[in-house]
Amino acid sequence: MKFYKRIEKVQTFEKVGKYILYWMQGAFRVKYNHSFEYAKYLSNKHNIPLLVLIIVDFSYPEGNFRSFKFFLEGLKDVFEETISQQIGINIVVGSFQDVLKSYIDNAKIMITDKSYLPNLINIKNTIYSENKITIYQVDTNLVIPVNIVSQKKEYAAYTIRPKILKLLYEYRNDFEEIKYNGSFLKPKTEVDLNNIENELRKQNLVNVLPAPYIGGYKEAKKILDYFVSKKFKYYKDNRNNPEKESESNISPYLHFGNISPLEILDTLEIFDKSSENYYSFFEEMVIRRELAHNFTYYSNDLNNLENLLPAWAFKTFYEHKDDKREYVYSLEEFENSKTHDEIWNASQRELKKRGKIHNYMRMYWGKKIIEWSKNIEDAYDAMIYLNNKYALDGRDPNSYVGILWCFGLHDRAFKERKIFGKVRWMSQGSLIRKFGLNKYIRN
Ligand SMILES: Cc1cc2nc3c(=O)[nH]c(=O)nc-3n(C[C@H](O)[C@H](O)[C@H](O)COP(=O)(O)OP(=O)(O)OC[C@H]3O[C@@H](n4cnc5c(N)ncnc54)[C@H](O)[C@@H]3O)c2cc1C
Repeated sequence: MKFYKRIEKVQTFEKVGKYILYWMQGAFRVKYNHSFEYAKYLSNKHNIPLLVLIIVDFSYPEGNFRSFKFFLEGLKDVFEETISQQIGINIVVGSFQDVLKSYIDNAKIMITDKSYLPNLINIKNTIYSENKITIYQVDTNLVIPVNIVSQKKEYAAYTIRPKILKLLYEYRNDFEEIKYNGSFLKPKTEVDLNNIENELRKQNLVNVLPAPYIGGYKEAKKILDYFVSKKFKYYKDNRNNPEKESESNISPYLHFGNISPLEILDTLEIFDKSSENYYSFFEEMVIRRELAHNFTYYSNDLNNLENLLPAWAFKTFYEHKDDKREYVYSLEEFENSKTHDEIWNASQRELKKRGKIHNYMRMYWGKKIIEWSKNIEDAYDAMIYLNNKYALDGRDPNSYVGILWCFGLHDRAFKERKIFGKVRWMSQGSLIRKFGLNKYIRN
């Protein structure tokens, strides 16, 4: 098994079972999925069939109409593709614990995807401890497994970069496809995947209107192909410019594990491996993204700013906590784009309509929420709430770390100023000078 280092044995309990169970929980795809391949391998080895299980928990924290629609669209691709490989798949509605119990009773071994957020890690640890079955976790959503690249929280991009680059060749090329020899267990889905909006209307979900992206592997490939053919050659020069639309828009697909970062690298490399555009994209999708996963993986909780921020950043905010704020807005005013700043309002409209904000504007969006909130705790809560409610790529390690970056995480100190202290500030004037933003404001 070429990717054996991605596989982690969580616990051993010898037991008989009718199948090998793959609980697909973070990598909702069939292609380039190490967990899936390992499950096939174990099924061949033990000569019992493989069953893929996906649990749809409509009460999942911060889930809403928009995010569930995107998620279920992705499941349609997984369902069809798994069946086309003559492998059994069940999509079941309920809570993780309840559904897993009955499936684990009949399983010999369970495989699942590794998680990177503390709340999910805790939920899974509880499930593991309550069930006497052999369990493996597989790190399939990162280029380098999170606990191999580093065993502690990294300080910044410059500390994790050399570690990633050292291991890159080995993990970049470790994927291996396994031919499945087992029998085909009858597939079933409790969610009508041909009628997703109807299904969602039956649930009592927070009503956030759908964003203009369709979930799933097939759409991820279309988005990627469009990026490669139309935008990639301008990526380095234009990625920061909100007027140019050069970003890939692949983040929602990475968030739901609809596509593997390894497949994205393969696609880009065929096109152009040595260009500055490739290195610029690599810096974002591998170095920054994996730095974010490193941070959340080694954080016990994501609520307390004093524990989350570097000491210098927390201290400097504390020293400036009583500085006069020129504007203070409520969460409702932020949510409804009711600030005095047309550019900021446009970024919030973009989040609500499009389900993501342009990367550069996302920094501005966050920095201004800090500037216009009563204190940093209110600002952090508002950002998490808005980002996780409206962004299709929300609730991700990148969400928390992107937001915390606005508070100084993984950044350096700057010249001291009001409210922000030594934390980097952003001004509207420099945004306008750089990009104009006339088109952006009209969105
Ligand atoms: C306040 C704030 C909130 C953010 N919230 C999220 C979020 O909820 N989800 C999310 O995925 N990203 C978030 N980011 C990081 C970044 O803005 C997005 O990853 C990026 O805009 C996604 O769009 P894209 O895929 O078109 O980007 P591209 O420029 O095409 O980048 C390709 C991929 O590289 C990774 N990437 C790009 N920029 C960053 C970055 N700064 N840090 C880490 N990884 C990066 C992402 O996986 C992205 O999909 C946030 C940043 C800030 C400042």
